[in-house]
Amino acid sequence: MHRVEGKVAIVTGGASGIGRGCARRLAAEGAHVVVADRDEVGGQRVVDELGTPHRFLALDVTSEAGWKRVVAETVKQLGRLDILVNAAGIAIFKDIERTTLEDWRLINGVNSDGVFLGCKAVLVPMKAAGGGSIINLSSVAGLIGVADAPAYCASKGAVRLLTKSVALHAARSGYNIRCNSVHPSFIDTPMCDAVINGAPDPAKARKAFERAAPLGRMGQVDDVAHLVVYLASDESRFVTGAEIAVDGGLTAM
Ligand code: NAP
Repeated sequence: MHRVEGKVAIVTGGASGIGRGCARRLAAEGAHVVVADRDEVGGQRVVDELGTPHRFLALDVTSEAGWKRVVAETVKQLGRLDILVNAAGIAIFKDIERTTLEDWRLINGVNSDGVFLGCKAVLVPMKAAGGGSIINLSSVAGLIGVADAPAYCASKGAVRLLTKSVALHAARSGYNIRCNSVHPSFIDTPMCDAVINGAPDPAKARKAFERAAPLGRMGQVDDVAHLVVYLASDESRFVTGAEIAVDGGLTAM
């Protein structure tokens, strides 16, 4: 229960789904967690469940000024910053013929620009703390193509290689900051529910999601959160620039 004892973490998208699960597991393992999300009601609810010393800070990840404020507030209130989990994200499922430039910019603004701004914003306080760990939520859609999600695939592919670039720069600069990407398949969260419920036959869509992974089920939030705790902890001290699938075997096929 002490795998990240005393470390300070910011978790974006912490109001819901995978981010919420990561906030809860990091807190259970001893971290002091800042839940950062644009959903103020949901984010505050998560922090109320977690109790002291955890905090909620409102953040739109597409805002550079917002990132500066949240990072400064975190260091002011909790004294340091050791871990960043970039979990905020959005999805639109439309093929290339139906995807508009507005869709493309919206998805890439949150999923790609948001992660870029986050990685950039935390380097100074992590250096001051003597090191740190950045964990970026990409997707299996950052490893393989999905016909109905060109903008989402592009944004998650960007996260995959941004992660490796940050990892190499930090390693060569001697910062003791690691950066890794996590690639889930279908995880049972409100994001996936929205896709399933938007399908013409939701029960059929859920079955298809379950059958997509050789392990024969959708992932649970904790399947991802356990990996994130490992990457956040010193157990993974020799792991950087890695892309780790948590996908029930989907990308092994
Ligand atoms: P989720 O349940 O929808 O949670 C995402 C959270 O991010 C929500 O609280 C959302 O707030 C917040 N958010 C969205 N845009 C934001 C912004 N601009 N600034 C700050 N917060 C913002 O989604 P999830 O399924 O947990 O997904 C988490 C991450 O995992 C995403 O990056 C997603 O792409 C990735 N992922 C998910 C799956 C999956 O199957 N679920 C698979 C692979 C990868 P609102 O509710 O206000 O939008």
